[in-house]
Order: sequence, then structure tokens, then C-alpha cells
Amino acid sequence: MKILVVDDSELQRLTMEATLKKAGYEDVILSDSASDALSILSARTDIDLILMDVVMPDINGLEACRLINNYPHLKDIPIIIVTAKDDRESLEEAFQAGAIDYLVKPPDEIEMRARIRSALSLKTERDRRKAKERDLLELTQKLAGANQMLRRLSVIDPLTNTANRRYFDEVLDQEWKRARREKQNLSLLMVDIDLFKSFNDLLGHLAGDDCLKRVAQILNSCLHRPGDLVARYGGEEFGVVLPNTNFEGAREMAENMRQSVAEQLIAHPGPESEEMVTVSLGFSTVVPSLGLEPKDLVAAADKALYRAKENGRNLTQGIFLKEKE
Ligand code: GH3
Ligand code: MG
Ligand code: MG
Repeated sequence: MKILVVDDSELQRLTMEATLKKAGYEDVILSDSASDALSILSARTDIDLILMDVVMPDINGLEACRLINNYPHLKDIPIIIVTAKDDRESLEEAFQAGAIDYLVKPPDEIEMRARIRSALSLKTERDRRKAKERDLLELTQKLAGANQMLRRLSVIDPLTNTANRRYFDEVLDQEWKRARREKQNLSLLMVDIDLFKSFNDLLGHLAGDDCLKRVAQILNSCLHRPGDLVARYGGEEFGVVLPNTNFEGAREMAENMRQSVAEQLIAHPGPESEEMVTVSLGFSTVVPSLGLEPKDLVAAADKALYRAKENGRNLTQGIFLKEKE
């Protein structure tokens, strides 16, 4: 345990040091003024106890106590005031300044040992508590990190690194409720890669996986608003949620996505294909009302997608969803 003795009298310092060493405290640091003590405390973090004289030129011991107690990283170091005066007022002032105990000069050896022992055990307790708090904080942070990772794993599709179906469903549900509350348009796009089976058959599944990743990137690069979402809906199909977007806006987005994929000229060797990878899109728009559910919007976009496929692929088709009469 390291003890810092602050006293302007050299004789006092040396007497204290001798007494402390006799009591088995080998690690004693001597300081001749409060300002010197403060600079020692700012340079090292291993002081366990301070024995502080009161009457000193420059900064007195009580003022030094107050200063030390104002520093969060120092305030756990117990301070024992060593004073010539033991009147009630002086002692009260010392305790108010943050001292935890006092010794009257010249200190009685037995009394000094007892007080130092109890001050040091207080310090050990404080250190232990701080270490526990640190451990707890570290654990809490680790847990938060793990939770974040778990959440990420549960909502991200590992192949395309976009949102997965679970997240798509969550967002669609939320946006549905919001649009219903605010009586706003909500649009949904279903994007399906054309003739992807033959792409896989001709080039292999790994090339197919790469193609899926690229299409996901292209679709994402077409988004403009923070609320828009591209998700892997399943297989080679993507779902796009577009809050606050009307039928015309959805058509524009769908057309933009279709063209963006075609412009990338990802080679597709299939005989039926146009020699490059294309996508077909179905879109649907609704102002949600009580008689409708999110799955109705998905079904409408699916139906539109089916039409786009029937009409020759590399096309967009849309349906404005109205409440059933
Ligand atoms: P269409 O133009 O009518 O959509 O024809 P298609 O061949 O794309 O349609 P189909 O639904 O018959 O084929 C989808 C193919 O997508 C079948 C499957 O092998 C492929 N696929 C689905 N998921 C993955 C995947 O994760 N990786 C790869 N490489 N292929 C996938
Ligand atoms: Mg499909
Ligand atoms: Mg397909």
C-alpha cells in the first residue's frame, strides 16, 4: 500500500516516515507542500492513503482536501488530516473538506496504526467496488454488443447482405400501420430475376449466388429515401417497401430498378434470355384501410409480377389496391 505524507516540516515528514515504516508500511512518499502533492497525484494512480498536514504555506491542508475531493479519479483516496488543533470546529472543518479521519500531532503510534489500518481497508473496499463496477460495465457492453450481433444475424440475409424476409415483414407491418394512421400511400415492389433457373443451370450455383448479390446491390443503389427498404423475399425474389409513395412514384422506382439491372449487362447465356440478366417487377400501391391487410398488398404485387412475366419479362406492371366492395 502506498502512503503519501504531505507536511511542510521536514522533521514531521521524517518522523512520520519512520513511524510508518516501523508499522510495516514500506511504500511512503514524502511531499513538502499541497501543490507538490497535487502534482504527484496527477502523475500517478497508485496512492492508497494521504496523511495531510493542515497548516502549510501556499495551499493549506483543508483546501488541498477540497481540491482532491473535487477530482472524480482522486476522491476515493482516503485522507487523514494531521493537525495540531483538535477543537471541534477545526475537526468539523476537516470532515467537511472531505477528510475521513484525523490524527493529533504528535501522533500516538498505536492510534496512528489503527487509523491507518482502517483507512486502508476502506480504500481496499472502494477499489474492489470500483473493479466490480468496471467488470459489470464491461459485461453490459459485451452483452449489448452480442445482442446487436444477434439482432443483425436475425434480420440480415447472409448471401446478399440485405434485409431478410423476417425484417421485411416487420417493416411492412410498421409502415402499413403508419400509412393507415396518416392516410398515406404505401407502395410495394416485388422483383424477380428472369429465367434464373437456366442461369444457374448453365453457369452453376456459385455464379448464381454472385448474380443475386449484384442484383441486391443494384436495387439498393436505386433507393433515395431513408425509409425505403430492399429485402430478400426468398430465392431470387426481392421485396421493396416504399413508404409515402404513390402509384406513379412506385412505377418510376420499378422502371428505374428494371433499367438499372439491364444496364449492368450481366451476361446470361440462356437461349430464351436477352443475353443479359433482367428482372421483372410487380408493384402495388394502397392507402391502407381497416378492410385490408399487408398480405393483400403482397398478393397484389405478386399478381402484377405474374402479369409482367406473362407479358414477356424485363417489364414492370402495377396494381392500385382498393378496398373490396
Ligand atoms: P422466371 O423468369 O419465370 O422467374 O424464371 P425463373 O427461372 O427465374 O424461375 P424459377 O422460380 O423457376 O427459378 C428460380 C430459380 O432461382 C431456381 C433456383 O435454383 C434459383 N435460386 C433460388 N435461390 C437461389 C440462391 O440462393 N442461389 C442461387 N444460385 N440460385 C437460387
Ligand atoms: Mg421466382
Ligand atoms: Mg425468376
